[in-house]
Amino acid sequence: IIILGIETSCDETSAAVLEDGVTLRSNIIASQVAIHQKFGGVVPEVASRKHLENVHPVLMEALDQAGVTLQDIDGIAVTYGPGLVGALLVGVAAAKAMAYALDIPLIGVNHLEGHIAANFLARPDLEFPLLCLVVSGGHSDLVYMPHRGTYQLLGRTRDDAAGEAFDKVARAMGLGYPGGPLIDRLAQSGNPQAVKLPRAFLEEGSLDFSFSGLKSAVLNYLNRAAMLKEEVNMADLAASFQQATVEVLVEKTILAAGQTGVKTIMLAGGVAANGGLRHLLQTRAAEIGCQVVFPPLRLCTDNAAMIACAGYYKYLRGDFAPLTLNAVPALPLGEEKY
Ligand code: ATP
Ligand code: MG
Ligand code: FE
Repeated sequence: IIILGIETSCDETSAAVLEDGVTLRSNIIASQVAIHQKFGGVVPEVASRKHLENVHPVLMEALDQAGVTLQDIDGIAVTYGPGLVGALLVGVAAAKAMAYALDIPLIGVNHLEGHIAANFLARPDLEFPLLCLVVSGGHSDLVYMPHRGTYQLLGRTRDDAAGEAFDKVARAMGLGYPGGPLIDRLAQSGNPQAVKLPRAFLEEGSLDFSFSGLKSAVLNYLNRAAMLKEEVNMADLAASFQQATVEVLVEKTILAAGQTGVKTIMLAGGVAANGGLRHLLQTRAAEIGCQVVFPPLRLCTDNAAMIACAGYYKYLRGDFAPLTLNAVPALPLGEEKY
C-alpha cells in the first residue's frame, strides 16, 4: 500500500511517500523558517501564500525521489486540522483535487494524530495501550490510546504550550526563532540549578499543564537584571528554564502512566526533540518499569511522513473522508469532522 502524505498546517510545506506504513520512500520538507524568522513567529498570511507556491514542486519532488508515479498511489492522506486555516486549505485543496482526479481514497488526518504516528514509522510493533506526551508549538497534551486510532485526552495545557514557552523565552533572551533547539543547545553548557524558577503542578493529581507563570518568571528575571544592569548567564538561565519545563512534563507523564498502567510511553511533537526531556523521561520511566520511545529528531517537527503513517492505518480501517473535506482549524483529537 502506497500512501502520499501532505502537510501544510503551519509553516512547513511537506509531502511524503510511504509504503506499507514503514518504508519511507521520500519526505520532502520546505520550511519557511527563514521567512518568518524576522517576525519572531509565523505570519499566517505569508504562510498561506508560501504554501501555495511550494505545494506543487514539493509534491512533484516527493514522487520523483520515491521513484513512483501518481498511478502508483493508493491513497492520499492530508492534514485538515488543527492549524492555520489558510495554510491547511492549500494542502486540503491539493489532496482533494488529486484524490478526485486519480479516483483513489482521500484520508483526513488530525495533525496531532500525525505527530503521534511518527513513532509508528520505526515501531509499528508497539503494543497498546499506549500513552503519548504530545508537546509541540501549539499543544501540550497527555493522550491515552487504549487501541489504535482511539484517543483519550487526559491532560492539556491551560495556557501556553511547551513549545510556545520555549519560543517566547528564547525571544526574550535574544536567541532567535524557533527557540526550542537554541535553548536546548545552550542549556547543555548551563547549570539547571542556577536560577530558581517556579514549577506549576496545579491541583493534586491534575494532568493539566501551565507554563505561562514559568515564562513570566523568566521575563521578570531578565527585566530585573536589565534594570540593575546585572549580567545574565544565558546558559544557566536556559538550563534552569528547560529543567523547570521538563520536570513538570515528565512528572505528569509518569503520573499518567501509573494511572493508566501502560508499559510504553511515547513522545511526540517538536519539543520531543529536546535532549533534556528525552533524558529525564527515560530515567523516570525506567524506575516504574516503562519503556520510552520517540521519533528520530527530524520526524519530531512538522513533516508529511507522519501524516502518511497515520493515513496508512486509517486506510487499513477504511476510514476515508468525503471530497467535501474542509479545513478545521480547531479540530479536536479523536473526533472526525468530515
Ligand atoms: P502544533 O503541532 O501544536 O500544531 P507546530 O506544528 O507549530 O504546533 P511542531 O512543529 O510540532 O509545532 O514543533 C515546533 C515547536 O517545537 C517549536 O515551538 C520549537 O521551538 C519546538 N522545538 C523544536 N525542537 C526543540 C528542542 N530541541 N527543544 C525544545 N523545543 C523544541
Ligand atoms: Mg513549524
Ligand atoms: Fe506540529
